[in-house]
Amino acid sequence: MRKTVIAGNWKMNMTPAATTEFITTLAPMVAGKDKCDIVLCVPFVDISAAVKAAEGTNIHIGAQNVHFEAKGAFTGEISAEMLTAIGCEYVIIGHSERRTYFGETDTTVNLRTKAALAAGLKVILCVGEVKEERLSGITNEVVTMQTKLDLAGISAQELQNVIIAYEPVWAIGTGLTATPEQADETCGVIRSALAGLYGEEVAENTVIQYGGSMNDKNAAELLSKVNVDGGLIGGASLKTDAFTAIVDAANA
Ligand code: PEP
Repeated sequence: MRKTVIAGNWKMNMTPAATTEFITTLAPMVAGKDKCDIVLCVPFVDISAAVKAAEGTNIHIGAQNVHFEAKGAFTGEISAEMLTAIGCEYVIIGHSERRTYFGETDTTVNLRTKAALAAGLKVILCVGEVKEERLSGITNEVVTMQTKLDLAGISAQELQNVIIAYEPVWAIGTGLTATPEQADETCGVIRSALAGLYGEEVAENTVIQYGGSMNDKNAAELLSKVNVDGGLIGGASLKTDAFTAIVDAANA
C-alpha cells in the first residue's frame, strides 16, 4: 500500500524568519492529517529554522539539491552529510529548473541520487518531458529513459527511499496542469519502467508524485488517480491555506 506524499518546493523563496513563521502557522492546520506524509523542501539557509519549527509536528523537511561528492573544492555546493547533520530528511534531485538553468544531466542526477541515498536522505527524483517532446508524442520514451538513467546502479532496497516526481516541464510554474488522465497515464508509464528494472512488486510499492501547477482547486482530481501518489508543489506551497487544502485533498 503506497502512502501519499505531499511535498512543497519553495524554490528561492523565504528567509529563515519567514520560514519559522510559515511553519508555525501551518503546523496546527495540518496536524493529525496523517493519511499523507508532508514535506517542505526549503532553501539551504532555511533548513535549520525549518527543522526547529517542525519539531514535534508531522511536517518533514527537505533540501532542493545536493552535491555528489562528500567534500572538497566544490565552491558553493552542499554535501549530503551536511544536510543530514542539520536534520534534513529529504532532498529534491533533478528538478527541471536545475536541468534547464544549471546544466543538470541524467548522469549528475544519478550521482547525486546515489550520494543522497548513501547518506540516508530520502530522494524526490524529478523526471518529465518538455512541451516539444509531448507535442511530438515521445513523452513515454523520455520519462522511461530518464527513469532508467537516473536510477542506474540503484538497488531495489535503495529505491524504497526514492519518490519519483513526474513533472511535465511545460506545466511547472505556468498555470498549465496536465489533465488527471495525462498525469495518471505518464505516472503509469514510469511505474512500468520501474517494473522493468525492479519487478512488479517494487514498482507497485514506489511512490510516484505528480507536479506541475497543482493547487487547491485541481489537487483532489489529480490525487484521485490510481498512479498518482501525491504531489510536488511549487507556487501553492508558499501559501498555508492552499497547501493545507492540498493536504486535505490527500486526506479525504
Ligand atoms: C515545482 O516546482 O516542482 C512545481 C511543480 O512548481 P509549480 O507547482 O509552481 O508548477
